[in-house]
Amino acid sequence: MGQRNLVYEALALRARESPGGSRILTLMTAEAGLVDVFVFGGPKSKLRSLASPYASGRAFVYLDPIKDFQKLSDFEVRDSYPALREDLGRLWSAGLVAELLYKTSGGGGDFPLVLELALECLKALDEGRAGESDPPLLLFLWRLVNLLGLGPDPSSCAHCGIELRPSLGGYYSFSLESFLCPSCATAADRALALGTGVLRWLTRSLELPYAQAAALPLLPETIETLKNLLFGLARKAAEGPIASLGSGALNS
Ligand SMILES: [Zn+2]
Repeated sequence: MGQRNLVYEALALRARESPGGSRILTLMTAEAGLVDVFVFGGPKSKLRSLASPYASGRAFVYLDPIKDFQKLSDFEVRDSYPALREDLGRLWSAGLVAELLYKTSGGGGDFPLVLELALECLKALDEGRAGESDPPLLLFLWRLVNLLGLGPDPSSCAHCGIELRPSLGGYYSFSLESFLCPSCATAADRALALGTGVLRWLTRSLELPYAQAAALPLLPETIETLKNLLFGLARKAAEGPIASLGSGALNS
């Protein structure tokens, strides 16, 4: 096998400097999940300025299989979500998206679906109003957890099987990793109380196109409960701590 040129549908997740001073860019790709590519050129090179988080588009990569080495030769950027940099909440949310893709090895195996989900989230963050980055992020977390096959079923009680009706409320047990009806939840389950809005959103948000689901109205207390639930599920998906959730005033 000789030298080869590859084309990826890609989202740039993060950039770091190699000991030799070149840039190494981690891409989330539809074809191969996470891919590290070298980006050569000085700080003023055009390719280097294009190839930064969170540019998305077609990445042209040269592969040297003998040296086990991939080099970015061109990046046809379709979108770079410029408004992400204008708002701390949006930027932090994009960072959490990138960290989760990284820690779940590109979301397991359904790479095209995971890439599409990430792009939809970044688009909704980019186009949304400043200070309203929670709904697109929470939607990303809930859909990712479901794509990974880790999404508990919010439509029925995992203990007695009764249908969970949003109007009656319900609980999520972190120890049992499942949803429970009010009669089955006990304090010993470390159960999180879920109001009508939370249960309704958990089902409704999976049925709508992304932009519509991200625009579903959410009360502040519903957002806080969803953060408790979905940040917990995200930590489980990442199989460990998440740096983005580790510090700062933005998480709860
Ligand atoms: Zn029950």
